[in-house]
Amino acid sequence: MQRKIGVMGGTFDPVHHGHLVAASEVADRFALDEVIFVPTGQPWQKSSREVSPAEDRYLMTVVATASNPRFSVSRVDIDRAGPTYTADTLADLHAAMPDDQLFFITGADALQAILSWKRLDEMFRHAHFVGVTRPGYELEDDHLPDGAVSLVEVPAMAISSSDCRERVAAGHPVWYLVPDGVVQYISKRNLYRETGP
Ligand code: ATP
Ligand code: MG
Repeated sequence: MQRKIGVMGGTFDPVHHGHLVAASEVADRFALDEVIFVPTGQPWQKSSREVSPAEDRYLMTVVATASNPRFSVSRVDIDRAGPTYTADTLADLHAAMPDDQLFFITGADALQAILSWKRLDEMFRHAHFVGVTRPGYELEDDHLPDGAVSLVEVPAMAISSSDCRERVAAGHPVWYLVPDGVVQYISKRNLYRETGP
């Protein structure tokens, strides 16, 4: 039987409730059987900033998704050497689940940049793309293949990992922006502090 699988790629530094709400909304809208969160390896778009160790980002994502039987976390990107390209992520997942239908979930910010991504045709072959947006957002780009991209409006769009990191660095709380276990993990590993781990 063909299953419908959501794929949520991200740096997840840290994973937050925006990511979880987006995955949940898209799963509901497209009747997905499962959503796989895929933390990036060395993120090529974010090389300007020190990114937390992949193992920490992976574990925070596991902690955040553990209670949902339809959410899981994949190591394909963090175990592949070199920078992460979404085309590789989708090719690897397609090879592991050749009979399943993949839905790649991404924020509208990333979707706007999608035409600059490498190997676009290959990606559209392996997955349907779902852009999550704020209410009222319109996709500007009309160069995308017909029917290749759907938009889903989600609440909690104002939460970002950058804001969470800045809050921790400034000594402000991230309770309720990220799952409780992630608050505790950040504290235990002393992430995002100026004095760093
Ligand atoms: P940063 O602030 O460092 O850019 P981020 O919050 O955007 O981090 P990422 O790990 O870069 O988090 O995002 C992973 C995916 O989730 C991307 O496709 C991004 O567009 C999407 N996303 C990020 N924040 C939200 C949110 N609040 N609601 C829905 N999707 C989101
Ligand atoms: Mg982002």
